[in-house]
Parts: sequence; C-alpha cells; structure tokens
Amino acid sequence: MPVDPTFTPRRPPGRSLPIADRRATPPPATVRLSITDRCDLACVYCRPSRRDGYHENRLDDDAWKTMVVALVRAGVRRVRVTGGEPLMHPRVVDLVAFVASLGVDDLALTTNGTRLDTLARPLRDAGLRRLTVSIDSLDPERFARMTRGGRLDRVLAGVDAARASGYDEIKINTVVLRGENEVELPQIVQWAWARGIVPSFIEVMRVGEAAHLPPEVLFGADEMRGALAGLIADEPGVPWANRGPAKYVRARHDPHLSVGFITGSTDTYCDSCDRLRVASDGTLRPCLATNEGVQAGALATEGRVDAIVSAIDRAWSLKPDGRTWKGCTETTAADVSMRAIGG
Ligand code: SAM
Repeated sequence: MPVDPTFTPRRPPGRSLPIADRRATPPPATVRLSITDRCDLACVYCRPSRRDGYHENRLDDDAWKTMVVALVRAGVRRVRVTGGEPLMHPRVVDLVAFVASLGVDDLALTTNGTRLDTLARPLRDAGLRRLTVSIDSLDPERFARMTRGGRLDRVLAGVDAARASGYDEIKINTVVLRGENEVELPQIVQWAWARGIVPSFIEVMRVGEAAHLPPEVLFGADEMRGALAGLIADEPGVPWANRGPAKYVRARHDPHLSVGFITGSTDTYCDSCDRLRVASDGTLRPCLATNEGVQAGALATEGRVDAIVSAIDRAWSLKPDGRTWKGCTETTAADVSMRAIGG
C-alpha cells in the first residue's frame, strides 16, 4: 500500500478547530485502540445496523503490534482496547497479551459482553487488568430493544465469568435514554454494588447515530443524580486519577461504593483530556468529536515505528484546545462514527 509521507490530515468542513499550543504539553498518555469496527449489536444511539459502513482496510495483527510499540515509544502509558466490539476480533487475546508484555501502567478493555463468558478468563490470563461492560438495561426486552437484538442473559453470563476471573476492577457503563431506561437507575446501581462492580451512567452524546435521535432523549447527569438521591451522597462528583472522564459520587451509606457520571452533553471535559484514539484502519484520532486525523495504517503495515511516532506527534498537534472546545456538543460530532473511531 502506498504511503503518503506528508500525512495530509483530513480536515472536515465547518469551523476550523481551535488547536492548542502543544509545545509545552506532554505527549498523549492514554490511548484507545479500536481493534475492530465490527460489532454484533447495533445500539440505537451508536449505529444504524450491524451490516453497514465498515472500514475496508483494517490493521492486521503485525500492524497492530507495530502501532502499539510506536505508541509506547511516543509516551503512552495507559491502553484501553475497544471497538466496534473488541471481542469480535479473532485474536483479541494475543493482542492483549502483546500490549501487556510492553509493561504499560494500565490495560483495560470495553466490551458489550456478548462473548465474555468464554473470553473473560483468557483475557485476564493474558494480562488484562480492568474491564468495562456496557449494559444499558437489566430488563431483557428493553435490553434487546436498545441494542437491536442483544441477549441480556449472555451478557450477564459474561459478567459472572469476569467476576470469577480475578480482575482488578469491573465497571459497567449505562447510556441513559429518557423514555427508555432512566427508570432503572436505582436497580442498576444496586445490582452492580451487590457484585463489587462500579456502575457509571453516560449522557447520550450527539455523535453519529445519536445525532438522529430527538434531543429530548438526553437525560442529564443532574437528573440521574436526582433519580439516585436515596442511594448516593449529596456531594460533588470527583474524577479518579487516570480513570477517564467520569466523576464519581460515593454511596450515601458506604464510602467504599461509588457511582460514576459521564457528562459528555451537559458539561464537557476536554481540558483534562489526554487521550488519543487509533481507529481500526490505523487512523490516529486526537478527538472523539471530529473526523480530524492522521493516517498511519500504511506505516504500521510496513513496520515503520519511527515514522508512526512522528505521525502520533502530528495527530497530537491537531488536538483541539480543551479550554474552548466543547467536545461532543460541537456540530462536527454528528459526522463521527462512534464504532469506527472507537468509543
Ligand atoms: N462494543 C463495546 C461496548 O459496547 O462497550 C465498545 C465500543 S462502544 C462504542 C463504547 C461505549 O460507547 C459503550 O459504552 C457505548 O454505550 C458508548 N456509546 C456509544 N455511542 C454513544 C453515544 N452516542 N453517547 C454516549 N455513549 C455512547
């Protein structure tokens, strides 16, 4: 495949990005790897169907290894494997083992859990430390509706397998939609706490498919907190160090239990974002809310670690200035495919 050594960034139409002055800032510390854009679910806020719009040129295993070596050389210390659905990648366990062998500080994975019953243990043995499972409902019918056909029993079996596999931490992520699962919040929290799992609730963000939903579906974090008032303390949420954008509030009656809230719509957190994303075709994406990026897939295929390190530097220099940039509330977010960029 021909390589474009000038890495012409793809700049979407619309307002130009407020680019931060990165000369005095550190390189990306956290990366999210979308190891495949395929998914066996089609959540109503994420993608229109299971079959459409996939990348044609996905990185192969050797290219991913080259990519990860370059990311670590560029300064990345924390890796989250995601997708698409990462457990649909046939060699996800090998890829996780390879990342673990590089000695990063944190190695986590986000999954819809449909294949976790068989993969939880091999992934843990491969060196995965933390796991996040996306569960939007504990009601089988609602779960099937929100995921367009997903089976809750399979996901719950996956959670059980993960709990038996000795992970350092298991979380669940729940995207909350008004008129759908907002009535379940207390039940989900108690279900999670009873299993040693940290629940986090996510405001739906107008990214990709969600931009087609009526705006009223947004159920804000303040409303979520109101729905959980009997369970959580009346205190400001605080971020956990190196644990992503969620702000955590402790349980009212037990300071060891918490609930996370991710406010990508009513409040943004771009100023603290140290995250780079790598799409399944090897495009380096500095921000979830734009299609801006630097293509490095061909370099990865050719094993050119040093050239990828330079490409990472260029991608990072495109990161919007978090003091003025408003993330997924920017109009550019509607053109982004969550599945392709790696949510
Ligand atoms: N397939 C995996 C999973 O289901 O967790 C990983 C990829 S998925 C894109 C990652 C996370 O992004 C999930 O928790 C999903 O609910 C969330 N997500 C997708 N679209 C979203 C949106 N428009 N707003 C908020 N969260 C979204």
